[in-house]
Amino acid sequence: MISDKMMEFVKNSSVIRAMFEEGKRLANIYGAENVYDFSLGNPSVEPPSQIKEALIDVLNEEEPGKIHGYMNNSGHEDVRNIIALSINNKFDTSFTSDNIVMTVGAAGGLNVILKTLLNPGEEVITFAPYFGEYKNYVSNFDGSLLAISPNTTDFQPNLEEFEEKISSKTKAVIINSPNNPTGVVYSEETLIKLAEILERKQKEYSRSIYLISDEPYRELVYDNVEVPYITKYYRNTIIGYSFSKSLSLPGERIGYLVIPGEVDYYDEILSAANVATRILGFVNAPSLIQRAVARCLDAKVDVELYNRNRELLYNNLLSYGYECVKPQGAFYLFVKALEEDDRKFAEAAKKHNILIVPGSSFGCPGYVRIAYCVDYSMIERSLPGFKKLADEYKK
Ligand code: PLP
Repeated sequence: MISDKMMEFVKNSSVIRAMFEEGKRLANIYGAENVYDFSLGNPSVEPPSQIKEALIDVLNEEEPGKIHGYMNNSGHEDVRNIIALSINNKFDTSFTSDNIVMTVGAAGGLNVILKTLLNPGEEVITFAPYFGEYKNYVSNFDGSLLAISPNTTDFQPNLEEFEEKISSKTKAVIINSPNNPTGVVYSEETLIKLAEILERKQKEYSRSIYLISDEPYRELVYDNVEVPYITKYYRNTIIGYSFSKSLSLPGERIGYLVIPGEVDYYDEILSAANVATRILGFVNAPSLIQRAVARCLDAKVDVELYNRNRELLYNNLLSYGYECVKPQGAFYLFVKALEEDDRKFAEAAKKHNILIVPGSSFGCPGYVRIAYCVDYSMIERSLPGFKKLADEYKK
């Protein structure tokens, strides 16, 4: 039999699996073009052309022995160096290759840093709504995830409750901006206050509390919104970056951790992250794509395509009577369900062949997430269904 712990994980992952099966069932009945699947955060925009060129160039140009072999568990040193310089250029920091650990996407990076930091029973705090996998990742290392209740006015973190909930068991805090599922970008004001609280609490409990900034959507922002670079606000910050969304490469599994030299126990954390990468079974992030992304650090996916989707969906849903904070980044709308029970509301949407994820999966009942990383034409075709759904609730 499988382990008790895996039994729980399998049970909890059934929502998304059920959605996937439902999509297939509906497509068989109504035809794929009449099913509107907004459930997955899989980028719809193609990777920039530079990626293909870079992959080919790496294979053609790199010296024998430099691509396919094992390497330092933290990744190719020259790649880490190029990434550090690129961050320094963009954000006026002073990192070197010794501050970068290449990871198997953001998921790999989060697991590496949580394995590095957590003792069993220690707590990680995050802010609802949050990416549901955080709970699993923290549980992998026998920690517990504590979610701060959502501030549904603007979905900036609820800092009053945060300050109350930090305890002697708090080891780390995970933030995610631009946020999945709200698309909200945490403001500079929020980050300054959050840092002040953490500084105070570190003193109060005489221990380090690490701020882990999960940033797969950093590059996907609209209307020239700035996403502050978190290491500037709080010394014990560790960044988890990913190329999954910024370059539309989720299947390639590539990202990195930034571990600044000024974090408490830097030497220990850096060596432990290196060992964690190895013993979690990653060994190292995939080599070829490490080399390719290092040549594409200034490349961008066409964010305007997501922006068109955002405007089309947001403006129409509002005109039908839905309520939603306009997302500033990522590719999700987090919409208030038209009845209290978000799961029932998602079921009602399904009757119009619309697949959306209940907010409960993100620790925020009463809302649903609509992933608009889909074809523009699918959004156009789905709009009459969204209107009928809203009209049903007006009766
Ligand atoms: N963190 C957040 C907030 C995400 O939305 C995702 C993926 O959707 C991940 C982490 C995992 O990303 P990756 O594919 O880079 O592992």
